[in-house]
Amino acid sequence: MKSSKSAHSESAHAAKRASHFENVNPATLAVINRLPNMTADQVESALKKARGAVSAWSGLSVKERAAALDRVRRQLIKEMDEMIAVICEETGKTQMDGLIEVFTTAEHMKSLTAHGPQDIADEKRRVGLFLSKRAYVSFKPRGVVGVISPWNYPLILTMGPVAQALLAGNTVVVKPSEITPNTSLKMREIALRAGLPADAFQVLTGDGGTGAALVSSVQSDMICFTGSTATGRKIGEVCGRMLKPVILELGGKDPMVVFEDADFERAVNGCLWGGYSNMGQTCISVERVFVHESIYERFVSQMKERVQELRQGMSTDNVSLGSMTFPRQLDIVQSQLEAARLAGASIQAGGSVNGKLPGLFFAPTIVTHVKRDMAVQKDESFGPLITITPFKDEDDAVKLANDTEYGLNASVWTKDKSKARRVARRIDSGMVCINDVYANYIISDLPFGGVKTSGLGRVYSKEGIRAFTNQQSVCEDRLGLKKELWWFPYTKERFDLFKKISRFLYG
Ligand code: NAD
Repeated sequence: MKSSKSAHSESAHAAKRASHFENVNPATLAVINRLPNMTADQVESALKKARGAVSAWSGLSVKERAAALDRVRRQLIKEMDEMIAVICEETGKTQMDGLIEVFTTAEHMKSLTAHGPQDIADEKRRVGLFLSKRAYVSFKPRGVVGVISPWNYPLILTMGPVAQALLAGNTVVVKPSEITPNTSLKMREIALRAGLPADAFQVLTGDGGTGAALVSSVQSDMICFTGSTATGRKIGEVCGRMLKPVILELGGKDPMVVFEDADFERAVNGCLWGGYSNMGQTCISVERVFVHESIYERFVSQMKERVQELRQGMSTDNVSLGSMTFPRQLDIVQSQLEAARLAGASIQAGGSVNGKLPGLFFAPTIVTHVKRDMAVQKDESFGPLITITPFKDEDDAVKLANDTEYGLNASVWTKDKSKARRVARRIDSGMVCINDVYANYIISDLPFGGVKTSGLGRVYSKEGIRAFTNQQSVCEDRLGLKKELWWFPYTKERFDLFKKISRFLYG
């Protein structure tokens, strides 16, 4: 058994095109298992099987597909304890964070099967002047969907897109993160036990090379990618060249704006959970906190006090904070902090590895006196680290919140509802919460996705499920006349008549 942090990074990441890679528990640094680093040929053969399964799966009615997914959801709940154990083992999450993944997945799947069939039913459209026509949009499966997922929420960020793609009638090939492949493998076992056809939901293990093969193959009809902006750009380029539909769910640097009239205690509690749950490794984590100058000192001092109360440890220890998941992410957090410290920022809490624990445990950290060009304020940290900065007034708060290349989630805290809504609208983000953090993620009827470099497209809700379909506009003639007014032959009379109609209707 290997037991060093470098063993983890060497085995899982450095050995890029080795035949196998090791999966490591980041809390104990013990090797969990070795899995194949699948080749382009293996990707191609999985895609062929998926293609072969499209006709039978899409031939079922949407209600039959929904019933199949309901069985998968129930099986997941039956095997919840085993699933939580697999998630926690490969992520270092607390049991509660593991359970949150299962809970969120089940909630999204239930909502999807309840409302998805209606969302992709033929939709009648207005015909305007052309009362002799019937118009509607029909939503057809795209075919084979490639889902590429990250390591921070290995269940929900895989199964969410998979369930939407399947309900829409596609078959799916998943490439989970090489840091957390076992969750997807376990999920597939559960799905197969619940009766899902094996070729309709396949999982390929491997690194970015396996993912790249999935993207560039002509056998995949669409890609749904969740991960970093850097990888998203590469995938977007390939899909752009191939004109392949793609959803890109990318990084964030979410602002939390706290006004002087906010419920102070709720804002502090929200900041703690929004900044540190899942060790801050959430795309919609609170990373930049902006607090009105009149309550700034009190806010920082409360946060410093409360952060010390958060217990950190192994997933089974009933703690609030687990370990980080990915050694490279720990390096990023440490190097951002070091640069900030050297440039004059002040570390108010945390700032170092928790030496009492074996794995990737980093203490929850608060940084103040940051400048806009510091990496800690500018780049995604994706760890248990927040910055807190004072602001003067509403305009200042909006300017600071928007001073980022990202635009994923945001939150605004004030008891003044009209101010909250006004400020929320002024923030350039795909999503925003008022007096809350992350809560939008559990509302399945809200589309999820970013603006700016946080991504393209949406998952969940009507917009999300429709993204997994080819939309076909249908125009039906209702009257069956022998010919239409604008068909041949063109005559002077017809020309004059259309001129008159144009003047009457549009002039
Ligand atoms: P990553 O981009 O390094 O990897 C994500 C996935 O892409 C992995 O499965 C990886 O193997 C694969 N991959 C890598 N290179 C590839 C390539 N060239 N072609 C195809 N696939 C490739 O991201 P990560 O470190 O796993 O995840 C963390 C990032 O994900 C953070 O930036 C976070 O904000 C983001 N994220 C976004 C959301 C969202 O919904 N917007 C949710 C969670 C995480």
